[in-house]
Amino acid sequence: MTTFTDLNLIKPLLKALGEEGYTKPTPIQEQAIPPLLEGRDVLGCAQTGTGKTAAFSLPILQFLSEKKPRPGKVDIKVLVLTPTRELAAQLGESFESYGRYLNNRHFVVFGGVNERPQISALKKGIDILVATPGRLLDLHSRGYIDLSTVEFFVLDEADRMLDMGFIHDVKRVLEALPKKKQNLLFSATMPKAIASLAGSFLKNPVSVEVTPESTTVERINQSVMFVERANKRRLLAQLMTEQNIGKAIVFTRTKHGANRLVKQLDKSDITAVAIHGNKSQAARNRALADFKAGKALALVATDIASRGIDIDDITHVFNFDLPNEPESYVHRIGRTGRAGREGIAIAFCDETEGAYLRDIEKIIRMRIPVVADHEFHSEAAVPGERPKRPKGPSGNRSRSPRGRNNQRRGGGGGRPGGKPSGGKPSGGQKKRRSQGPRRGPKKPSSSGTT
Ligand code: AMP
Repeated sequence: MTTFTDLNLIKPLLKALGEEGYTKPTPIQEQAIPPLLEGRDVLGCAQTGTGKTAAFSLPILQFLSEKKPRPGKVDIKVLVLTPTRELAAQLGESFESYGRYLNNRHFVVFGGVNERPQISALKKGIDILVATPGRLLDLHSRGYIDLSTVEFFVLDEADRMLDMGFIHDVKRVLEALPKKKQNLLFSATMPKAIASLAGSFLKNPVSVEVTPESTTVERINQSVMFVERANKRRLLAQLMTEQNIGKAIVFTRTKHGANRLVKQLDKSDITAVAIHGNKSQAARNRALADFKAGKALALVATDIASRGIDIDDITHVFNFDLPNEPESYVHRIGRTGRAGREGIAIAFCDETEGAYLRDIEKIIRMRIPVVADHEFHSEAAVPGERPKRPKGPSGNRSRSPRGRNNQRRGGGGGRPGGKPSGGKPSGGQKKRRSQGPRRGPKKPSSSGTT
């Protein structure tokens, strides 16, 4: 078994990791930390939940600790570019906790908040800058940020940058950075545009790849319910009342949909908060804090706003609207079943979403078991190629989704926490370590809704 000590991490980092309760490196950390410590460029294929943040934060902190302090103003030596504010804030927290026994200054800049405190922190000098592209370019163009001193560059969640339309901003940032530096790119998938971007700035990179642990995916008890669009809210309220829910994330496609849903749930006495791109940063932080503290049972979120949210004890993920990017489904359900816990993921599919369901099942390589025994089941919403609900009292009647302990599944069976039997699970954990970029699955166009 590899330990963090085997990875040659320095004592102040080992001490912080011990306090975090990390006993051994995750596979992505095991693969990425050694080449990064050697000064190599790395191309990583990994999504949130794999421990990828520590995989690059630790070598960065070690890299900085080896630098001799120079008198005068502190230059920006590390730039971490990330697509969303929430992720940026979480990265800042990671540098804070892993670097607690080191003396580096890190700072996070993102849009949607007052820029003045950001400008004054930048003027004082920082070692590590974590930023979203828009605010970074804005402050850079006005002379508040000097990128010419950057020695270590991380592009995090590159495929999400592409989805969110930030790819040109990323290219502009790259142009402002020195050519000679150590580089790292992390992406959950490797569409062509990202592979070619990677090729444009990574130098002879070591490729590392880890898909989420199969046990995580298998621990998630997935099901789909066919329901008319107009009945989705009622079905959700019913499930939220009947199931033994600790914390639930409900994914909607649009911000307005998220707001409407919070109001509807409120009418059914279910406390819910929403986070999406239209909310101020303060409102998002408040909503997240309330949800984490258990003051709200449900967090209603759009994909982009939820990206990277790191909460370990989510019991349920509801795909209230199916994502039109199938990869998002995997990201979404991965919010539950974390840290060795069991998780339940329930997807609603209405009469317009059959094609999305098909795409999802293609990439997860399994049929999601159907639960049809609910008051709002709609035969009209069942996509053509699926078997319709059997008729007659002795038929293979659908089964009840009620309550965690008596939850049973139709269309292939399954039990809470058990492996779905509807098909092949999405594959075991893959490891790869080789040279050069690699293309991943084709990615459909972005939904563009936050
Ligand atoms: P990430 O993929 O970076 O978003 O990390 C997902 C979660 O795993 C976070 O809650 C981290 O704190 C946690 N984590 C990262 N590395 C380890 C480790 N080696 N052991 C235990 N937990 C970890």
